[in-house]
Amino acid sequence: MDNFNIIESIKKSRSGISMSLSSDLAHQQTWMQKIGLTLVGIGLLIMLLAFVGVSIPASIGLASALSLMGIGGVLYSRDQYAGRPIGIKNNGNTFAGISSRGAIAWIFTIVITGFYVLLYWYPSVLGLGKDGAANVGLIALFDPLSYFFKGKPASEWFVYGTLYTLAILVMGVKFIAKYRHNKYQIIRTLSVMFFQLGFAFLIPEILSGLRSPDAAYFGLDMKNLWPLNYYFFHDWHFSAMLEGGNLGMFMLFLGIFGILVATPVLTYFYGKRWYCSWVCGCGGLAETAGDPFRHLSDKSMRAWKIERWMIHGVLVFVILMTAMTIYMRFTGSSRILFIDAYQLQSWYGFLIGAAFSGVIGVGFYPIMGSRVWCRFGCPMAAILGLLQRGFSRFRITTNGAQCISCGNCSTYCEMGIDVRAYAQRGQNIVRASCVGCGVCSAVCPRGVLRLENGPTEDRKAVHVRRDMVDILDPDLY
Ligand code: SF4
Ligand code: SF4
Repeated sequence: MDNFNIIESIKKSRSGISMSLSSDLAHQQTWMQKIGLTLVGIGLLIMLLAFVGVSIPASIGLASALSLMGIGGVLYSRDQYAGRPIGIKNNGNTFAGISSRGAIAWIFTIVITGFYVLLYWYPSVLGLGKDGAANVGLIALFDPLSYFFKGKPASEWFVYGTLYTLAILVMGVKFIAKYRHNKYQIIRTLSVMFFQLGFAFLIPEILSGLRSPDAAYFGLDMKNLWPLNYYFFHDWHFSAMLEGGNLGMFMLFLGIFGILVATPVLTYFYGKRWYCSWVCGCGGLAETAGDPFRHLSDKSMRAWKIERWMIHGVLVFVILMTAMTIYMRFTGSSRILFIDAYQLQSWYGFLIGAAFSGVIGVGFYPIMGSRVWCRFGCPMAAILGLLQRGFSRFRITTNGAQCISCGNCSTYCEMGIDVRAYAQRGQNIVRASCVGCGVCSAVCPRGVLRLENGPTEDRKAVHVRRDMVDILDPDLY
């Protein structure tokens, strides 16, 4: 068979394996994938029609839209990876418009950021009924599900929570199919799917439906961990806990225990991954729906410098705001010099709580990678990072002698860490920003990287490659 025929026969075979990094097989979809994409498209179309005001019977419309998108996504993922070799797929990453900052990526970014802007500031455009009026449009489409859970019409946050959970579940299945050779990835992904579905969606929705107003209030937000829950100490929230009966006291205890005990202890034993890659909803979305964009994180030194200034700047902001809030509670005065506590709270809510974590954090996945918020803005990640760097048993060990410098690890590190530079020197990776996703290790073809918890002594060790001593600056060691 001549070369042309070999290539043609590989193209025709669905399970054909190309060793080329630039194989055009990446752009060939099976019939099943085309059907899957069609189902997803129809599901989105139903939502679009509802959004523009076309009258659709809500129960049938919502059930069809959600199930079509779910089934379509799973069908697509199944054929994307089933029957293909396990391990990392570089195929098409630098060609596909959506994952290489092409036109589709920009359109996607505009649509998602636009959706967030409507959600936060103009929910009536999405159809939220004002002053007791009935919902219309997209939000009315979700009314039947909302009535099912809590006996009242949907809010914009119910719509958001449902779509967010669906995205994590469907893209979680895709992620598991992709990394099915790696037990750590499978368990970690099941964990974020479980926490999103149970603790971030079902339990709060069911609590909100209970008759007790306390349950309804605390059901609104189970994520009671300061500083992620930046309003934990705000007057209205703190008073609600104090006056909220047994459930209120439980939430207060849980919050204080989480801040003072669970966070430092778990981070000491496991690093920040126990939260950022196993539990957190933002991390859950980044790891599943954000997976196709993880290689877009900026690996430059400049980005690392900006990252440290920004994330610690947000941490200082939230500490200052919280200190002012507590001061205000004890003294009754809302001002220190020219700083007004209420103003600080509203700036933080607007700039960090809404614009950064939502609009930029998710909307910019296709341009800046999937962990923009976690890397540059999350105050919880900042605290966990400081603990991880200074007081933790977690590190990624590197067997430098095995490294072939392929760069897969650095490419797919969503936090922009140049993992290869550590691997080449045989140096343990102890970085505040590492969320312990383990993808660097999963994509390494030589088994160089291991996520480990061990003794705190010597955790930043360098195991020098003998053959590199001459060419690298010995002072580095
Ligand atoms: S260094 Fe590895 S484990 Fe840490 S964030 Fe990057 S890819 Fe994930
Ligand atoms: S550590 Fe592994 S993935 Fe990273 S450059 Fe070396 S061989 Fe490649």
